[in-house]
Amino acid sequence: MESTGISGAEEDQLRGLRVEETKALLSWFISQYPEGAALSCSLQPESIVLISLIRSLGLAVRVFFIDTGRHFPETLRFLSEVEAFFGVSIESWAPLPQEVRSMTEEHGEDLFYDGAMQRKLCCHVRKVRVTERALRGTQLWIAGLRRAQSSERSRVETVVWSPSLQLVKLHPLAGWSDDDLSRYVNDHELPEHPLIAQGFASIGCAPCTRAVAPNEDPRAGRWWWEGGGKKECGLHRDVGHYVI
Ligand code: SF4
Repeated sequence: MESTGISGAEEDQLRGLRVEETKALLSWFISQYPEGAALSCSLQPESIVLISLIRSLGLAVRVFFIDTGRHFPETLRFLSEVEAFFGVSIESWAPLPQEVRSMTEEHGEDLFYDGAMQRKLCCHVRKVRVTERALRGTQLWIAGLRRAQSSERSRVETVVWSPSLQLVKLHPLAGWSDDDLSRYVNDHELPEHPLIAQGFASIGCAPCTRAVAPNEDPRAGRWWWEGGGKKECGLHRDVGHYVI
């Protein structure tokens, strides 16, 4: 547990308040966009907690998953487990076959190992463009980004306006610590991606994700061959424009 200088009971009280605040935030924003809200689900603990919080409020929003075509088999099996656990249907969105074909014919199936430009192209075709299609007509995009996830995400705001997508983007867990997240998962006995137990702290596509050491930056296991620098795929490029 992170050292905060306050007692365990006070920590618990603050954690309870944070959960209530997050529920209030979700409830208010979803009520503003009852038909136009969508949650992107990466199947990582943040998404599982958000599904749990939304369901605990008796609210229903679209939940979608981006099936890049390069996921671990464990991820696809876990998708069915999560649907069964919550009794929800998660939309699966895939890249357009002709876009994948034209990319792989020109650059090869595993182009991402050839350089950052090629990696970003693959993420663009298999994730970014698919997400843009999945979000068409959406007014409120709910995503699980947290400031504690990595140095790149340390400035994530709770609510932003995305000029590129022309929608409000809500990060209800922006201020949650790693402890907040794991305590909520444990207290509510939520399902967990099976690869987490094998040291995978941030799980993306199989060829681009490896396990990390206990004290390593969780995002260090993503595109590790690129070394330092920004470890993002381009999905969450609008994170710093306040709307409230
Ligand atoms: S994470 Fe890797 S395989 Fe997945 S879309 Fe990005 S570059 Fe392609």
